Amino acid sequence: MSEVKGYIHSTESFGSVDGPGVRFIIFVSGCPMRCQFCHNPDTWKMQDGELKTTDELLKTALRYKSYWKDKGGITVSGGEPLMQMDFLIDLFKKAKEQGVHTNIDTSGAVFTKEEPFFGKMQELLKYTDMLMLDIKHIDDEQHKILTGQSNKNILEFARYLSDIKKPIWIRHVLVPERSDKDEYLERLHDFIETLDNVERVEVLPYHTLGAYKWKELGYDYKLEGIDPPTQERIENANRILETAKYLK
Ligand code: SF4
Repeated sequence: MSEVKGYIHSTESFGSVDGPGVRFIIFVSGCPMRCQFCHNPDTWKMQDGELKTTDELLKTALRYKSYWKDKGGITVSGGEPLMQMDFLIDLFKKAKEQGVHTNIDTSGAVFTKEEPFFGKMQELLKYTDMLMLDIKHIDDEQHKILTGQSNKNILEFARYLSDIKKPIWIRHVLVPERSDKDEYLERLHDFIETLDNVERVEVLPYHTLGAYKWKELGYDYKLEGIDPPTQERIENANRILETAKYLK
């Protein structure tokens, strides 16, 4: 039995929005970003949650294998999965040995071509079928305001995944007064058009369901008073980002 462990926040047995088909979702703990719209601030703390071995997680996940059919599988989300590379490599290597489809839901915020990270990333990608990469804002200065971090390495990560033809879904949270401006959406669209590996683009309307967690944790909620986008603005973002063309 392997003793490689990860810090786990929670799991979900029948995820239907985090990748293709029905999926077992593993939410890891620890995130370096501070997105103003985050609805899971309870996953931010590093080395928090429950320590679980890859073997026990895989064993639990495989109980649901019959529901996955040909499309489903395992998604690791967070928090930020790429903060726990050794855990992910071990988990996905074993998952692929069992023929399981593997997906990482990531902000890409920790991506770098420096070692030791890059070597581990290359190893991990051998066992990763796809990634869901969030591009939270195309403008670097606005990205810093919205998330506390630059987007440079995130865009570099998207470019690298395109170069190696690793399939990705791009997700974009539409936040009024932050990312919901035609100019930003058009720039994001133009960037996505330069990539060769995009299988889907999704607009995720900002919602306030996680706001209470910020208050419970004693954090200052910076989007106080900002309402979710209107249906019209959601449709506008979908139109500019041409999300429909990926569904054909
Ligand atoms: S990257 Fe995800 S988990 Fe981290 S702060 Fe942003 S929305 Fe929250």
